[in-house]
Amino acid sequence: QNRTAKEYVQGVYEELKNRNSHETEFLQAVEEIVESLEGVFEKHPKYMELGILERIVEPERLIAFRVPWVDDEGRVQVNRGYRVQFSSAIGPYKGGLRFHPTVNTSIIKFLGFEQIFKNSLTGQPIGGGKGGSDFDPKGKSDLEIMRFCQSFMSELARHIGQDTDVPAGDIGVGAREIGYLYGQYKKIKGAVEPGVLTGKSLGFGGSLARKEATGYGTVYFVQEMLKDNGQDFSGKTVIVSGSGNVSIYAMEKAAEFGAKVVACSDSNGYVYDKNGIDVELVKKIKEVDRERINVYLETYPNAEYVAGGSVWEIPCEIALPCATQNEIDETAAKTLIKNGVIAVGEGANMPSSLDAINQFQGNNVLFAPAKAANAGGVAVSALEMAQNSSRVSWSFEKVDEKLQGIMHDIYHNSIQAANEYGKSGNLVAGANIAGFLKVADAMAEQGII
Ligand code: GLU
Repeated sequence: QNRTAKEYVQGVYEELKNRNSHETEFLQAVEEIVESLEGVFEKHPKYMELGILERIVEPERLIAFRVPWVDDEGRVQVNRGYRVQFSSAIGPYKGGLRFHPTVNTSIIKFLGFEQIFKNSLTGQPIGGGKGGSDFDPKGKSDLEIMRFCQSFMSELARHIGQDTDVPAGDIGVGAREIGYLYGQYKKIKGAVEPGVLTGKSLGFGGSLARKEATGYGTVYFVQEMLKDNGQDFSGKTVIVSGSGNVSIYAMEKAAEFGAKVVACSDSNGYVYDKNGIDVELVKKIKEVDRERINVYLETYPNAEYVAGGSVWEIPCEIALPCATQNEIDETAAKTLIKNGVIAVGEGANMPSSLDAINQFQGNNVLFAPAKAANAGGVAVSALEMAQNSSRVSWSFEKVDEKLQGIMHDIYHNSIQAANEYGKSGNLVAGANIAGFLKVADAMAEQGII
């Protein structure tokens, strides 16, 4: 029992690595946390004795299931479905569903693991979970999406509930999918339980400002970070990767704050519009027409579309990665730094590799990590749950104001935790520590379970 905090955290990480060597994304997420927490275990040896770290890296439950459905040609298709119920220490499992061909247990576990700390940071009473499927929504008809969602929920329904586990959207799952999932859940349960899913449409229990919350929240967080360092968005050139829900509303808010957003992307390529991206047009292309981003050029023939290119090669002062994990590797980080980036705010989950983060932090780039910077989405999900259970609906202004308050608090709590544990100015460490402490205390008080 005479191990140091360093030996303890590294020992837990090594054991995990030996057991799960193929789960690279999950290990990456754990490695980042472990690096931040050494000082915490030094200061609170009690957490070592209670085995908090070896317990928190092990999901309470991992559910994997078959999702059979029939396509428009009448062929039977089978996908894999997952739900990881990672931690209920501070509230019901909470986290989105991702439908994307890359989904596997490593991806779901990394997302669920991050969700524990992110959800804790929001100050809302929500635990960590995540789910999804390797189903590829791209090119599927509306009826195929519906049949898939119904089959997925036929199994998921027995594992979730408004007080046990509350899914929402993520990549590939938006209001349309949530609607189909919710309809099927209601049919199976024979009761209206609106709080079982968040990100619902406004007509049946959805919250105003939920759609905007992740993107707006990221920009609120980055604005706070810039302000603290004598800067702001006004007049800055900004690149936002992705063109989904997070990206669109990050672009909208950054532009509202006076920034010039010159590029966004999808998995096929990026659009560069030196006059500033027309966010309303991107909204129409993605949300209404469900088209690819290159369609942008039909309206703006003077914009540039680069197929297969990396959006990070365009010079910018602020980079907001809002697409997917590991989209910024060490090379992309070096390019951004060479081109004069001053701040990076992560709207996606784990968009920067560990080497990329080291580059940013080693070169005085202000770095806002995902767990803190993109917590606005799940924070407003918790506000949606609160509205559902009290059968009220708040105004857009009220939700937006709460969101701003939450992002402000996450920033300052993270900065304070970093200071307290000798990691001054390091938001990665600060967010990990602040998120962890609340969960660790709850686990300590609830016994070894
Ligand atoms: N998928 C989002 C996230 O990564 C939101 C989850 C939720 O609202 O439950 O945080």
